[in-house]
Amino acid sequence: MNTNNYLQTSYSHYLQGGGEMGRLTRELDWSENVLGDPEGWSQSLLTTISIMLNSRFPMFLWWGPELIQFYNDAYRPNLGNNGKHPTALGQRGEECWPEIWPIIKPLIDQVMADGESTWSEDQLIPIYRNNKLENVYWTFSYSKVVDETGKPAGVLVMGNETTDKIKSYNSIKDAKKELEFAIEAADLGTWELNPKTNKFIGNERLKDWFGLSGNEEIDLERAIDMIAYEDRDNLIDAVQKAMAKGSDGNFNIIYTIKNPNDDFKRIVEATGRALFDKEGNVYQFSGILQDVTEEYKLQLRKDEFISVASHELKTPITSLNASMQILQKLVKTDKASDKIAMFVNMASNNLNKLLSLLDDLLNVTKIQQGQLALKVTRFDLVELIRDSCEHIHPGDHELILQGDNELMIYADARCIDQVMVNLLNNAIKYSPQSKRIEITVTNNGQDATVSIRDFGIGIDPEKLPYLFDRYYRVDALGHQFSGLGLGLYISSEIINKHKGKINVSSTLGSGSDFRFTIPINCTLLA
Ligand code: ADP
Repeated sequence: MNTNNYLQTSYSHYLQGGGEMGRLTRELDWSENVLGDPEGWSQSLLTTISIMLNSRFPMFLWWGPELIQFYNDAYRPNLGNNGKHPTALGQRGEECWPEIWPIIKPLIDQVMADGESTWSEDQLIPIYRNNKLENVYWTFSYSKVVDETGKPAGVLVMGNETTDKIKSYNSIKDAKKELEFAIEAADLGTWELNPKTNKFIGNERLKDWFGLSGNEEIDLERAIDMIAYEDRDNLIDAVQKAMAKGSDGNFNIIYTIKNPNDDFKRIVEATGRALFDKEGNVYQFSGILQDVTEEYKLQLRKDEFISVASHELKTPITSLNASMQILQKLVKTDKASDKIAMFVNMASNNLNKLLSLLDDLLNVTKIQQGQLALKVTRFDLVELIRDSCEHIHPGDHELILQGDNELMIYADARCIDQVMVNLLNNAIKYSPQSKRIEITVTNNGQDATVSIRDFGIGIDPEKLPYLFDRYYRVDALGHQFSGLGLGLYISSEIINKHKGKINVSSTLGSGSDFRFTIPINCTLLA
């Protein structure tokens, strides 16, 4: 049988089917093309086209020295609308792909020359389609197609556009970055416990809290060792409960981490969730860790404050009540008793104490609400201090005023008096054994400095940084010294409002020196 005759009569079988691309391939006027009419096409070309047209997988073929193009319906969407399709059919490769020819021509040559197929995964190949240059990703392979002589005559491209996959991958990556940013900004530690391996993974912040460097693995046993002893059982219990079959998986607990590097005790709140498979076995347990040291300490101080405040308020009220009861009796029975004056005095003293405690509480509320307004006037600071010394009752303490004899300043006199009364009362209260208190006023032309020095109990250096905090008392629940822990807080707020500074130096057992500095001529404070 004559092969050529056979081909001439049957080439149309090979171009059958193939949807839109089959039809276009059949209808194209090939006589104008370098390949000529299909009846003259080689068997290998026809077979390849037939496979291609009937495949549902995207395929594209370059054939002959001019690299004339064929493609199937599955490939066609890759060319977009208003772009290369349908001109690409029968077109020379170089004419069709000018924008990427320098990338793909070497691949075609390589496949034609040594016959090795190529494999490219998610490669960016920007193409012109839909009236614009688009960034398009592809996973594709180029393989040679030989003709009847055994020589490479074409290159078949099988591949898929992966732009959507890459876009979703990138948006997941972006979302992850945003989440990491939010975690970073919110100062959160993140953790994950692998229930199968018991491996504990955390972000850098968490490792830092546990005293580990960035690339060190977290050993669960070691991590537990760094948790405050008294919190360990509760923590292990909470982890086991969250991971137990049938649990709702929720995990929330507050515990303390002791960083072995700096001995810092960080109070953290761990929140997490265990996830379970269909059999009810936990397969993931992860969550976040939030540093709540400050909030927790403040809360603790507030609780202590309420206990101290109730105690402080109760003492004068009880005395006042007792004085009143005795007065009532005396008034009824002995109108002229000389004891009346004594009890009225006691009642009045206790009332003053109560008023001063209430003043402190009201001042804190004012400061909190930003309502501490200054009434600035010009006055002599030294004279004001002399008056303040007279208003308080130093008992057997000796108040020694030294330094400047007169110093005119602009400030809120009532507020500065309040600071002086607070500092002097503290100096007296916290130096029961030593009676000398030195008050020194100095100035450097710009600022006035007042120092109140006592030789009393002094302050532990570790406690100094917290002294001016709200509700802070060195001996929080001890009742040796009365007070609400508000005087220094209010004083520091008043001095700050005057754009000044207040600080303390102190030696435990030898006494303290509280000093504040305010501008002399600042008339723009109010
Ligand atoms: P308080 O009403 O408790 O005296 P303050 O705010 O005035 O509150 O002072 C806070 C804490 O600072 C006090 O509880 C005390 O422990 C400490 N303190 C203040 N002044 C002195 C001082 N002169 N000497 C020693 N400790 C002081």
